Amino acid sequence: MTDFAATRALFHLPEGVIYLDGNSLGPLPLVAEARVRQVLREQWGDQLIRAWNDSNWMALPARVGDRIARLVGAPPASVVTGDTLSIKVFQALAAALALAPPDRRVVLSDSGNFPSDLYIADGLLTALGGRELKVVAPEGVADAIDEGVAVTMLTEVDYRTGRLHDMAALTARAHAAGAVTVWDLAHSAGAIPVHLEQANADFAVGCTYKYLNGGPGSPAFIYVAPRHADHAQPILSGWLGHAEPFAFERAYRPAPGIERMRVGTPPIVALSILNAALDAWDGVDMAELRAAAIRLSETFIREVERRCATLTLASPRDPHARGSQVSFRHDHAYSVMQALIARGVIGDVRAPDILRFGFTPLYLSDAEVVQAATILADVIDTRAYEAPEFQQRAAVT
Ligand SMILES: *Cc1c(COP(=O)(O)O)cnc(C)c1O
Repeated sequence: MTDFAATRALFHLPEGVIYLDGNSLGPLPLVAEARVRQVLREQWGDQLIRAWNDSNWMALPARVGDRIARLVGAPPASVVTGDTLSIKVFQALAAALALAPPDRRVVLSDSGNFPSDLYIADGLLTALGGRELKVVAPEGVADAIDEGVAVTMLTEVDYRTGRLHDMAALTARAHAAGAVTVWDLAHSAGAIPVHLEQANADFAVGCTYKYLNGGPGSPAFIYVAPRHADHAQPILSGWLGHAEPFAFERAYRPAPGIERMRVGTPPIVALSILNAALDAWDGVDMAELRAAAIRLSETFIREVERRCATLTLASPRDPHARGSQVSFRHDHAYSVMQALIARGVIGDVRAPDILRFGFTPLYLSDAEVVQAATILADVIDTRAYEAPEFQQRAAVT
């Protein structure tokens, strides 16, 4: 059994704070501080450039990738880390398009996808020319998969509502129509059990600063199904994806396997923090994590709904139809969240009217969830959110 009291002890959680925003930025794993000091002093400081070999820095992107692979149902040597998620979306989509039948013109996505994914697709398709991005409602995706679709580019869990796509079913449908799949796991990795290999997914990408607690701007990851890995086209053909970077050949030759999805020099300090953060997942069973997260989110919905009639659930009511977040709508969502944060309950908002809360059993207890619901109800009942200090918008919501 996963010991969630033990995992909670691995994090720095400020006194007086109930943290319901680990879906946006996970908290600091305590081990990260010592690890960073060690990397800075013993590796960079004392080993200097020798650390690329002596501390095996060059292998870190793939080693960390292997640790993430276990959490997303991927085999060893199928995941590599680096860059940001937006960049990994670009790479995956370009590689998927290169594998799709050449006469297909459509990249299919949905309106619940995160804007950066859609913007990146716009940019890539503009550069390539001759193709279009088709964006349908999330409920319409299955029916929109037809023989004109080259690639489906979908985010499994909707960042606003938490709505969960059926990855296995949509992948099967895409394959039956001859399309290639790209899955974004930004709100899945570390949140729900993911079975990339079992679902037969082609490409997947994700970030590590959300549920994986890798720290602000921590490196992203990309998965390429082993059946594609030796011929997937690395559009960002940087030297560290070359078969022999230190041969310094004029011609680019992609490395075999997943290594070709590397681009340039890896961010070793950030990767070391992520590597340390992944220690918290070592004994965690993803099915048990999911069961605990569902219990927390169901408690929250029940406790909020019996206290606040003015909040409407924006997430699917069926816990199996949503990821690990719960959203409510309120006309003054921004001010309500500011008032809530002032009382130590941290969630976030997504324009125009979504209050968003993430449920992370690694460090969140049932008692905290009940308390958060009580405080939210009080903020709304007393109209505390109407105070002038809660009306001022910050740059980051
Ligand atoms: C968080 C998130 C991003 C952010 O991309 P970055 O390049 O890391 O800033 C992109 N796509 C989705 C679906 C996300 O949830």
